[in-house]
Amino acid sequence: MDFELHYSEGQEEFRKEVWTWLEANVPRFDLSSDGAKQSMAARQGAADFRRKLGTKGWLAPNWPKEYGGGGLSLAETIVIDEELSQWDVASTGDLGLSLGAPAIMVWGTEEQKKRFLPPILKGEITTWQCFTEPEAGSDLASLKTRAEWNGSEYVINGQKIFIGSPFPPDYIYTLAVTDPEAPRHRNIGAFIIPAKSPGVTIQPLKLIAGGGRNTIFYDNVRVSPDQLIGGKTDGWRVAQSTLEVEHGGGGRVVARDQVVDDLLAYYKEAKRSGKPLSRDSHIKERLVDLYIQSEIGRLFGLRGYWMRATKTRLVGYEGSQNALHGKKYFVNLATILLEVLGPTALVDDPKWAPLKGNLEYYQRFAACQHQGGTPEIQKVIIARRMGVSRTRETAAAMV
Ligand SMILES: Cc1cc2nc3c(=O)[nH]c(=O)nc-3n(C[C@H](O)[C@H](O)[C@H](O)COP(=O)(O)OP(=O)(O)OC[C@H]3O[C@@H](n4cnc5c(N)ncnc54)[C@H](O)[C@@H]3O)c2cc1C
Repeated sequence: MDFELHYSEGQEEFRKEVWTWLEANVPRFDLSSDGAKQSMAARQGAADFRRKLGTKGWLAPNWPKEYGGGGLSLAETIVIDEELSQWDVASTGDLGLSLGAPAIMVWGTEEQKKRFLPPILKGEITTWQCFTEPEAGSDLASLKTRAEWNGSEYVINGQKIFIGSPFPPDYIYTLAVTDPEAPRHRNIGAFIIPAKSPGVTIQPLKLIAGGGRNTIFYDNVRVSPDQLIGGKTDGWRVAQSTLEVEHGGGGRVVARDQVVDDLLAYYKEAKRSGKPLSRDSHIKERLVDLYIQSEIGRLFGLRGYWMRATKTRLVGYEGSQNALHGKKYFVNLATILLEVLGPTALVDDPKWAPLKGNLEYYQRFAACQHQGGTPEIQKVIIARRMGVSRTRETAAAMV
């Protein structure tokens, strides 16, 4: 079986065009993996680059042009994603692009698609996904935020937690109970709200995993009914179209794992106690393990991407398998970084730590297994989709 992708001459030509454009346009900022450490100039550069990519249609290459996508083929999309993955531009990401837009595409009215999708897919706005509450994380259906209908508008009150990215939001994609009398899962609405609406307060949170997360308070936030995505009580199903992607179902195309590359380069050059590190057979063995795990993750991502794009097979447990592998991978990576770099893996000062101190972040990130669903929740989903749980579950609608 051949797991790799193969390209035609035309696609290789297109790759050169993409590469040339990226070389001329990718901002040369040192984008720290930890959002809290990014300078304002770096963030601005990343946001400008996101807009440039969006204008070219390369933020959402195979989405329809009428909604702000590039209208390109799947093969061209893969080439763009592969080339992008070679640059340190991950922080240009907008949660609206990866998580909000797919749900709007499935559940929005034609008018809503034309209103919300072009600015998201062209990189003009940033949207945060605001689902989690202090008492509703894994058990999201028990959320308490209320959206009461007053005859002309919804009035939203409640609190969300662990929300956001380093980039301030223009819109908030959120869930609230619209019918408290209705049964669980059929009592929620999904809304897209301007982030500057009166009554929205955003309070930064300091997390071990780094910056850009917040608590959000809704205090009598008035929302027009045309900002409700799906029906009044369709919110649970709308959210599933987002969570399906967030739980790994979207897959991803990456050409290589930058951290592994950096670590291998370091291993070849570095010395410990005067001896080349490359003579240490234990470390060599650990790096081989890491390389294999990273390749498995890359192939899981590719499989999910292929399943999502071609729809030739219904997505089952594969998304959560991919997500679970990623979570285990980051714990393994943190352990191996400690073994290879020694105590310097724990410091971010470039004076002491190799590779500009950027790898320290991975020690903290490994402790953060919750985002996008905890490992236990990924296992619950896998069990349900394998048919070995009390409830049997199939994938939500996904684009
Ligand atoms: C860095 C970071 C970024 C985040 N970004 C966002 C964001 O942008 N938007 C957003 O809406 N949310 C975001 N979250 C929230 C994230 O989705 C939640 O943290 C996650 O869903 C878990 O919820 P919780 O923290 O309430 O933990 P809980 O649900 O309280 O879980 C606590 C523990 O109990 C376990 N557990 C719970 N239920 C079960 C079960 N049924 N079976 C087995 N074990 C179980 C969990 O695995 C976990 O170990 C973010 C979180 C982090 C840490």
